[in-house]
Amino acid sequence: MRIALGGIAIESCTFSPLPSRLSDFTIRRGAEFLDRYPFLDHYARRAEFAPLLYARSIPGGSVEPDAYAAMKHEYLDLLRAQGPWDGVYLDFHGAMHVRGMDDAEGDWVTAVREVVGADCLLSASFDLHGNISQRAVAALDMLTAYRTAPHVDVIETREKALRMLLDCLDRGVRPQRVWIPIPVVLPGEKTSTEWAPGDRLYAALAESDAAPGLLDISLLVGYVWADEPRASATVIATGTDRAVLEREAKKVAQRYWDARHEFQFGVPAGSIDECIEWALAAPEPCVFISDSGDNPTAGGAGDTTVALAALLRRGAPSAVVASIADAPAIDKMLEAGVGAEVEVELGGKLDPITCRPLPVRGVVRHLAPGDNTEAVLQIGGVHVIVTARRRPYHFVADMRRLGLEPLAHKIVVIKIGYLEPDLKRHAPRAFLALTPGAVDQAIERLPFQRIQRPIFPLDKDMTWSPG
Ligand SMILES: [Zn+2]
Repeated sequence: MRIALGGIAIESCTFSPLPSRLSDFTIRRGAEFLDRYPFLDHYARRAEFAPLLYARSIPGGSVEPDAYAAMKHEYLDLLRAQGPWDGVYLDFHGAMHVRGMDDAEGDWVTAVREVVGADCLLSASFDLHGNISQRAVAALDMLTAYRTAPHVDVIETREKALRMLLDCLDRGVRPQRVWIPIPVVLPGEKTSTEWAPGDRLYAALAESDAAPGLLDISLLVGYVWADEPRASATVIATGTDRAVLEREAKKVAQRYWDARHEFQFGVPAGSIDECIEWALAAPEPCVFISDSGDNPTAGGAGDTTVALAALLRRGAPSAVVASIADAPAIDKMLEAGVGAEVEVELGGKLDPITCRPLPVRGVVRHLAPGDNTEAVLQIGGVHVIVTARRRPYHFVADMRRLGLEPLAHKIVVIKIGYLEPDLKRHAPRAFLALTPGAVDQAIERLPFQRIQRPIFPLDKDMTWSPG
């Protein structure tokens, strides 16, 4: 059997001022992306795998149409040139938005189907933060999605999508799908699988796994910062017994709907000023605060200064801020050198609605030149990490590398939503600041226009049952 591998992944925040361009994507071709599938050797006797193209970008704004077209056409050309195929595995995220086009993954899958024909089986894997349309589900034969957030079942999920594909090909099975959109959109910070009700709802999927005639049941919480009609939670059941698929999918959808009022942030949440007050009053020597509205790994611009301004206003005695993206400020700090005092108009240049540049004077404490140069600017007791381009700080080691010991500071502000595992392990205590930005966690503040209404929690009193 011959199986094509490839795909595309980006989380596109339609509220972000930053368009995602071709240069934002890392495109790997052929064997360059085989490291995504460390389990392939295990299946080598059953099939020949042909890696075509895999494109991935850090979350950002809507993808430029030219960039999308270039990647799609290159992938399709490879698919055409190297065929025919028994199966195609599509390695997706699921929350891509292309400017002027809704349902980009649906467009990609439909184009693949046109190339490979009706007999070829298509399997896909998704992030549970994907928004999955009926069109995408109809063009695929089977799919699966992560069951953990933070995501710790990434490799297992890819392997499951591929294993299902091989098993169906071996057995000559063409699965059916049942797709149920649930009119609920909630941020990932409330739908983590580490606490209730997410932990319980995802654990309960195991009950459906045991149902005969069911190959996979996936529950996607969706991606809330995409103002497009398909944005919602979904349940997709894949298998051979339609009645079983309907029964299990309805059960899962109803459970999710019934739990909608229970979703909450995993740590106390408040305004940035409240979080700073709570942190200063906390008995712990160090408190982490998520600057959640500008989280670059959800699509934030990464350059808002709301949290820094609040720390300076409050006269915070000892804090780290990770981070603010500002290429001109980096140039100025590189020119000045370590130990020099500089004056800069920091950040706040990308999204004038939520932020303005903040004039600051500080001392350059560290410079790490490179592809994405990082620097540390000390302003009073506050150490700010400045980067040429936005990037996440998901590991304490990322800050130690820059000469900072975050745990020695009373407050560590990070542009992030829920703390990623390494940060969570280190943080003696954590709060989530509901800061403004493209990925505002207070979603009722966002200017939704195109999402399908009614939808919870924008329409709090709506009623619904899975059809
Ligand atoms: Zn995700």
